[in-house]
Amino acid sequence: MSPILVLVDHHDGAVRKSTTELLTIARRLGDPVAVVIGHGTDLALPTLSAYGATSVVTVDAADIDDYLIVPRSEALAAVVEKVQPSAILLTSNAKTKEIAAHLAVKLESGIITDAVDVQPGPDGPVTTQSVFAGNYAVQATVTKGTPIITVKPNATTPEEAPATPSQETIEVTLSDQARAVKVTDHAPRERTGRPDLNEAAVIVSGGRGTGGDFTQVEALADALGAAVGASRAVVDSGWYPHAFQIGQTGHVVSPQLYVAAGISGAIQHRAGMQTAKTIVAVNKDGEAPILQLADFSVVGDLFTVLPQATEEIKRRQG
Ligand code: FAD
Repeated sequence: MSPILVLVDHHDGAVRKSTTELLTIARRLGDPVAVVIGHGTDLALPTLSAYGATSVVTVDAADIDDYLIVPRSEALAAVVEKVQPSAILLTSNAKTKEIAAHLAVKLESGIITDAVDVQPGPDGPVTTQSVFAGNYAVQATVTKGTPIITVKPNATTPEEAPATPSQETIEVTLSDQARAVKVTDHAPRERTGRPDLNEAAVIVSGGRGTGGDFTQVEALADALGAAVGASRAVVDSGWYPHAFQIGQTGHVVSPQLYVAAGISGAIQHRAGMQTAKTIVAVNKDGEAPILQLADFSVVGDLFTVLPQATEEIKRRQG
């Protein structure tokens, strides 16, 4: 089978769930070759093995962790030259999409971003993208060069397939151009203690109906072990940080359960959450569009409904 490169998204070797999803997809297409840029391979190895990497390539380049995009695309290009894969998979986020774009220019290859599914096809991988606010599904195949595909988190359920990968280290000398911009400082994002929005199985989101008071939204989220999301109306009002926005111009999420509290269900919001497995809406307007999308609805004031739900969940948890 032909090698499929998977760029490992990790923090000091802690592999993100989205990479285990990519490895699961890569196994459909060929032999997954996991590429770890920077240090952390030893820590990452058990996860990469568990999800079926047949080979792990570490890119060793001095100080690469001190740089952002260009060195990573140069490093990946070096791996591509050595491994000659038949496709390259990356997780879809702002940083990796930029890496993918640089790589596509370097390799003169076609690129597909934000795939929600990737399947093998007679002429290479066939991707599915959800476009026009989720109203259309588009299937596409790269017709030039080595297909470079970025895949949205939660596109598939990660499945373990233990393997014993071979290991190799490639040394890369970064160009002067790649070293033009250097990271001078790191500040860790303030931790909420809640799961990452893109990977959370349960999300409780608040809209304008909260009036900016997220106390009850957060309390319900914590009772459920959920992440907190917000509509754009909330973010634009400065009530909650932009990093939590769900929708067309925010995060596109597919949790098992999505609770929309005080959210009307505008098409741009739906574009970010309509693929959730189960949707629960709490809205005081029985005509709100979100109710048509929801699997379960409660017509009522969120400041009355959410505390009751939180209390009942806690009672059942004992
Ligand atoms: P509203 O539409 O004002 O709805 C508030 C809801 O709360 C109402 O249904 C009301 O009945 C209910 N409510 C009020 N008080 C209570 C209460 N006490 N208890 C229960 N219910 C109550 N929006 C996004 O969310 N994400 C995006 O990514 C996004 N991208 C956009 C991109 C573009 C180009 C454009 C033009 C718009 C975009 N929007 C996006 C904005 C979108 O069109 C809506 O304006 C926005 O989603 C509305 O947010 P909301 O539902 O919180 O507010």
